[in-house]
Amino acid sequence: MSDYKPSQLTMRQAPGATLENPYSAPRSDYSGNSRTVAGNGRVWHEGDELVMDKDAELPARCIKCNGPESKRVLKKLSWHSPWLYLLIFAGLLVYAIVAVIVSKRAKVGIGLCAAHAQSRQRKAWIAWGLFGASVLSFIGSGVADSGALAGIGFLVLIASGVFCALAVRLVQPVRIDDRQVRLKGVCRDYLNSLNKFGG
Ligand SMILES: [Zn+2]
Repeated sequence: MSDYKPSQLTMRQAPGATLENPYSAPRSDYSGNSRTVAGNGRVWHEGDELVMDKDAELPARCIKCNGPESKRVLKKLSWHSPWLYLLIFAGLLVYAIVAVIVSKRAKVGIGLCAAHAQSRQRKAWIAWGLFGASVLSFIGSGVADSGALAGIGFLVLIASGVFCALAVRLVQPVRIDDRQVRLKGVCRDYLNSLNKFGG
């Protein structure tokens, strides 16, 4: 690391010159610069998957259309081996407990353009609306002692979960280990702007 002080540099600058230090360490770039990858780690593509170091920062572009980023959504992702689903046969609770213990997690800041951020917000409200409707159905079924209403509540609850999982989630983790994260659901143009993994 260089240890010069920016003030030494800016003192000699002409009046009106920007104070931007061209030699400063790379920072997060929200200008929409197409290939900027900030952060300490790195980001690549491999086939239709995005591969990133866990501490890497994604470029400031929309992962759905490659447009300029207007909002960054922090997603907490978790992943476990698909083999673990076999434990469901041993019992849903057994699976749930083991999954919580062995899942690998990562936090990834994901860029969205204004249009895609808005569309995601709408879908999130729909998911919450469905969830609220299911809660009301359960309450109603208790008050009216109605099995049918409880059944409807259960179906709407599942619908809200499925809708949330499919429509609101932005990316799908394909693999997370201690070093890297692999994601699907990133648009082609965005992937093409990244270096090829291992290449
Ligand atoms: Zn977009």
